Amino acid sequence: MEGLAQFLKFKEADNLLRQLNPIQSRKEGRIIIEQEEYIDFSSNDYLGLSCHPKIREAAINAWQNWGSSSCASRLLSGDFSLHHQLEDKIRQFKNKPAGLIFNSGYQANIGIISALVGKDDCVFIDRLAHASLIDGVVLSKAKFFRFRHNDLEHLDYLLAKERNSFKRALVITETVFSMDGDIAPIKAMAEFKNKYDFLFMVDEAHATGIYGENGSGLVEEEGVTEQVDLIMGTFSKALAGFGAYLACSQTIKDYLINTARSFIYSTALPPAIIAANIASLDLINQEPFRRKVLLENTAYFRQELINLGFSTLGQTQIVPVLLGKVEKTLRLSQYCKGLGFWVMPIRPPTVPNNQARLRFSLSYWHSKDILNKVLQGLKGV
Ligand SMILES: *Cc1c(COP(=O)(O)O)cnc(C)c1O
Repeated sequence: MEGLAQFLKFKEADNLLRQLNPIQSRKEGRIIIEQEEYIDFSSNDYLGLSCHPKIREAAINAWQNWGSSSCASRLLSGDFSLHHQLEDKIRQFKNKPAGLIFNSGYQANIGIISALVGKDDCVFIDRLAHASLIDGVVLSKAKFFRFRHNDLEHLDYLLAKERNSFKRALVITETVFSMDGDIAPIKAMAEFKNKYDFLFMVDEAHATGIYGENGSGLVEEEGVTEQVDLIMGTFSKALAGFGAYLACSQTIKDYLINTARSFIYSTALPPAIIAANIASLDLINQEPFRRKVLLENTAYFRQELINLGFSTLGQTQIVPVLLGKVEKTLRLSQYCKGLGFWVMPIRPPTVPNNQARLRFSLSYWHSKDILNKVLQGLKGV
């Protein structure tokens, strides 16, 4: 046990100790922590749907009609018609033959990847891909190659060099990257299918609800629905619910129902959550102004930060301000806190050494007025 305490001491000395901060209340993009109110710049409630009355009503109705829990795995008696309704909606939303619901994005990724590839197969994955994707790959025992972030040439090189030594190949990327706020070149990646044989999987966790004409994500926006075999995303971010989805072929869906262990050996999501997810998908369709306002404000905020001389990354609603050193990042985060803005510092090991950053996660609640106050505050540093 001594080793554990020492580990924590070292982390603390390096300013890398992670701690929990209980929130007393949360409403319309504002949070109360230790009696102080802050405007929250670290949630994923991009469209401000988390307090929407239609979602609340749907959840309460489902609770009353179906009870509090699904009480079993989908393969036992936890498979409610509600789950199928949600899968049907996903199928239509994503314009794919089939939809499958998982209990969280983390569980989806470890379940899907470890079911699809094994020790005779290989995976090509972006170096900055989310931990859940990496964990899925490690769990699968497939041989894996990490290509440099968004680097098509490197991916091409690795595919040419390694692909033929394995049975099945899977290429994986996020569409919007959670720590860099940038976008993967999925159209060009999909074109590699003309040269190499592989399954293409994308994680739309941060794009779902925001990009594309119908708000379904970047795959829709880039017009590569056909070429992407596995479109995965979560209900826990812009959709302000919980759980995850996969849109794919009927064959892949049937295969995963029979093989994905995180799907098989876990209780199905409770009915209230499923109903909330359904209501949220309806709102993406009914209230497109939310994503429009978000993207307009995003462009404004990023440009103004650049005008102030800050170094920003990416082009999405995730706006990282690159600072480099951990200490500097912590200082600026504290400074923002003093001004009433809750902005989390992102430190190694989440990002590489010397790339510590302040990560502004914008949402529909952040009006131009609020953003101007942040910019005004940052002018002074
Ligand atoms: C948040 C996230 C996940 C995990 O989703 P949860 O539903 O929160 O478990 C997976 N992939 C990416 C890229 C994410 O940002």
